[in-house]
Order: sequence, then structure tokens, then C-alpha cells
Amino acid sequence: MNIILIGAPGSGKGTQSNLLAKEYSIKAISTGDLLRKEIEEKSEIGIVVKDIMESGKLVDDDIVIEIIKNKLSGNEYKNGFILDGFPRNINQAEKLEEMLNKINKKIDKVFNFVIEDEIAVKRIAGRYSCKKCGAVYNEYFNPPKNEGECDKCNSLEFEKRSDDNEAIVKNRLQIFKKSSFPLIEFYKKKYLLVSVDALKIAPLIFEDLKSAINN
Ligand SMILES: [Zn+2]
Repeated sequence: MNIILIGAPGSGKGTQSNLLAKEYSIKAISTGDLLRKEIEEKSEIGIVVKDIMESGKLVDDDIVIEIIKNKLSGNEYKNGFILDGFPRNINQAEKLEEMLNKINKKIDKVFNFVIEDEIAVKRIAGRYSCKKCGAVYNEYFNPPKNEGECDKCNSLEFEKRSDDNEAIVKNRLQIFKKSSFPLIEFYKKKYLLVSVDALKIAPLIFEDLKSAINN
């Protein structure tokens, strides 16, 4: 079972990625982690990647695809894989398909997590956490039971990630939408795309995913 997840920040696809991995004994591929690992291991590609990253440039799609290809030929992904956050654009999608063809693999399902912008923004921009124990809250959807007091440790101090402010989140969403639209069309034409109502709660979304996979 080879799956691609497409979804805006705040769409909850990370949670679903973990649930799918457990249910189907498959593994998620994070391209960021893969790149970091290559660098750590000082592999041939890792050395090239390190130079590119240190000069502040973006790592070329061909290199990312090559690293994924190497990974997929190993035993680790014999039951399948989940790509979360890759491909990000049509160029990467085409290159991915070409590579998978070469190693006799294919994508089985592409889940598109559909969520209204306003809700995605609130999910991320509303997020904050307890300074003492790290418990995570959301000012719109999940505030502490007693206002201003952590449910878990009663601390009165909280903190918010600086890049979670509304303007930055909105900007990230715009960029995502622009690049993902052609990607969604690409997979729709191949009859691989399944739209998921990401407004539902996580267990219900997971039921939708499973029934799409099992059909
Ligand atoms: Zn706390």
C-alpha cells in the first residue's frame, strides 16, 4: 500500500500518517529526515546535499527522488510507504512517477485533506502550550478547563511559537494552495485522488481513509 498525503498545514494529516503506518505496517517517508540522515551518515549524496544546504540553496528534486529511490529498494518499505509533504508540486510528482515506474512500484491512493482556510488558520495560529509541562492547547478549539491554568500541572505560564502567528500561517496556506492545486489535478486525472473531509475529528477521518483503501 503506497500512499501520498496532500494537505495544508493544520489539516491534521500528520496524525493520520501515524495511524495509517500502524494499521498497515507501512512507514512514512519524511524527505527532510532522509536528507538529514544522508548528511549524518556522510554518504556520497549526503556530502553533496550538505554543500547545497550550507550555501543556502534548495536541494534539487532529482537528488530527493534519488534518495527516496534508494530507500524504497531496501527491506524497510517492503509493505509500502506514506509520503507526507512530498511531492509538493507537479514537477516532483512527474519525477516521482517516473522513478516508481523504473522500480516497478506505483502509488495506490492520494488523499487530499480538504479544510477551510479559516479553520486551518485557527488550528495553527490558535495553538499554544504550557511552559512547564508542554501540554498543548488551542484558544479556539481546546482551551484549558480553567481559563489561564494548565489542566495537567496547574501552571499559569504558557508559550506560543513565534512562527504560528496568523499572518505567517495565512501566507503559508496561500503558498501551499498555489502549488498543490496542479498536483491535485494531476492525481485526479489518474483516478488516484480521494478527497477527505479534514473538518471531522481524527478517528472519523481515519475511518474514511480505511474504507477508501479497502474498497
Ligand atoms: Zn502544564
